[in-house]
Amino acid sequence: MVHSAERQIATSVLVIGTGGAGLRAAIELAERGVDVLVLGKRPKADAHTTLAAGGINAALSTIDAEDSWQQHAADTITESYLLARPDIVQVVTENAARGIEDLERWGMPFARESDGQISQRFFGAHTYPRTAFAGDG
Ligand SMILES: Cc1cc2nc3c(=O)[nH]c(=O)nc-3n(C[C@H](O)[C@H](O)[C@H](O)COP(=O)(O)OP(=O)(O)OC[C@H]3O[C@@H](n4cnc5c(N)ncnc54)[C@H](O)[C@@H]3O)c2cc1C
Repeated sequence: MVHSAERQIATSVLVIGTGGAGLRAAIELAERGVDVLVLGKRPKADAHTTLAAGGINAALSTIDAEDSWQQHAADTITESYLLARPDIVQVVTENAARGIEDLERWGMPFARESDGQISQRFFGAHTYPRTAFAGDG
């Protein structure tokens, strides 16, 4: 009898790529009760998502109450030299705070101010400090 290392796995959705985009899509599907399998081709520490160290932008307004998702969108479009698609920029910036909330829910140890609010720092092209970060503050 010949033994093969191959085996068959059935899934409703196959997500290829185990960086932030693939994992976020997989979590959304799993939370909606959809059977999902995520496939990566390299070690988990080798995705760009794992290499990113600066932080994540979201207008939480914890350091400066003047910040808003609209200002985040305007800064993003300006920094893209008007090449970014405004509809995509709106989706990203308007939902960025929710993304931070999701990461908190999943255990991300964001750096915090003494009052417990998530810290935010300047990173790039910001009118106000709006980068949430962990580990190197
Ligand atoms: C050094 C560095 C620092 C950065 N710092 C920041 C930062 O501070 N803040 C910020 O917002 N952004 C930062 N970025 C950008 C950010 O990391 C990326 O925009 C983001 O992680 C992209 O996520 P992703 O899921 O699309 O891609 P990735 O995280 O690259 O994931 C793609 C995955 O797909 C896998 N894959 C590719 N092809 C196949 C295939 N054919 N079959 C199976 N698997 C496949 C790859 O192995 C990888 O695991 C940084 C990027 C780098 C490289």
